[in-house]
Amino acid sequence: MQEYVPKLITLTFIVLVFAYAIQFLKRRYFDYQCGKCDRIFNPRAWGSIFSLQLMGIRYIKCPKCNKRSWVKLVLKESKK
Ligand SMILES: [Zn+2]
Repeated sequence: MQEYVPKLITLTFIVLVFAYAIQFLKRRYFDYQCGKCDRIFNPRAWGSIFSLQLMGIRYIKCPKCNKRSWVKLVLKESKK
């Protein structure tokens, strides 16, 4: 086995842990607003890590209307 392979696995693991931690914190303060039905929802952390992301808007499936759309990041009502 090549020497860099275990290092690559470790690095991938660290990146995933960081991504999960950031997502976890984000979920505490932010919700997403669906672009199709305007309803607010909170996706599961893993699902949002692997979805497309672009400057605070994401292309994910809305659990309320089951349609994929660009969603906006909105501050949770309780944190306002
Ligand atoms: Zn929707």
